[in-house]
Amino acid sequence: HAKEQGRATFEFFTRELNKRAYERLSTETHLRGALANDELQLVYQPIVEPQSGRIRAAEALLRWNSPVLGRVSPEQFIPVAEQSGLIVEIGHWVIETALMQLASWKRLGMKNLMVCVNVSAVQFWRGNLMQSIQQSLASSGLSGRDLEIELTENVIMSDVDKARTVLNQLRPLGVRLAIDDFGTGYSSLSYLKQFKVDHLKIDKSFVRDLKTDSDDAAIVSAVLSMAQDLHVQVIAEGVENAEQLAFLTDRNCDFIQGYFFSRPLPPNDLMRLWARTNR
Ligand code: C2E
Ligand code: MG
Ligand code: MG
Ligand code: MG
Repeated sequence: HAKEQGRATFEFFTRELNKRAYERLSTETHLRGALANDELQLVYQPIVEPQSGRIRAAEALLRWNSPVLGRVSPEQFIPVAEQSGLIVEIGHWVIETALMQLASWKRLGMKNLMVCVNVSAVQFWRGNLMQSIQQSLASSGLSGRDLEIELTENVIMSDVDKARTVLNQLRPLGVRLAIDDFGTGYSSLSYLKQFKVDHLKIDKSFVRDLKTDSDDAAIVSAVLSMAQDLHVQVIAEGVENAEQLAFLTDRNCDFIQGYFFSRPLPPNDLMRLWARTNR
């Protein structure tokens, strides 16, 4: 009995493992052709100054619509892109596309807008980030000050000396740095400060339950007051309602991002929104 049960359990796990391995492989196979087949798109989520209601920046976020797999979320395909190394090529496309989009927005009169792009660990360490950024700045005709890269604290903490070298190369270009998902990793703000962080993005998991979870409220308050002391501006992610917004503005949070203001939008929709908020 025990033996049979053991075997059944074993077969269950093997099936589960096979299923997962298969899904991963299938995602990778289809992702391989995604760029060439025009299946990837960028949407842009506004980052807003709460006092004025003006859009100051737009975060580029990847969307993948596969003819075979349908819509696949970045939470699912980014890890696969990282493990397979495809992220280097995709990441370059993201930087180039976002900068070309910003250049075209600027030609249409959208001033004082910056684009933010997410840079994954593999792209930061293995891809030629510096070259990728320089090339995209040249083809779009923009300045490094028009671009902010978002890195998670864990990427920097995994090799602080090497991270410093990479970031020091980017600094003369004027490229800005944001720490994404802040609070989910293991670093401290005072330590990160040495990397000349421009913006700290409080992870949406802390913002979600601000109203009901007194620990989250205390963490967010502490991060905001420490960031102010250290002269680092804060962006709160995942702001979905007026209560969260009030909590954050009461504590002088510099910028907000979230569904309460806008979902990530295709370029034309962002332009229409900008025309209402920034004119
Ligand atoms: P992230 O960089 O932290 O991006 C914020 C995520 O929160 C986005 O999810 C956005 O759509 C979502 N979000 C924004 N406002 C709200 C809100 O009010 N409520 C809730 N519940 N969610 C909100 P998305 O687009 O699914 O992207 C997920 C993650 O995938 C990103 O997290 C980022 O880590 C990664 N990602 C997306 N695009 C890229 C990319 O071009 N390159 C790399 N390396 N990673 C990317
Ligand atoms: Mg981000
Ligand atoms: Mg984030
Ligand atoms: Mg995230």
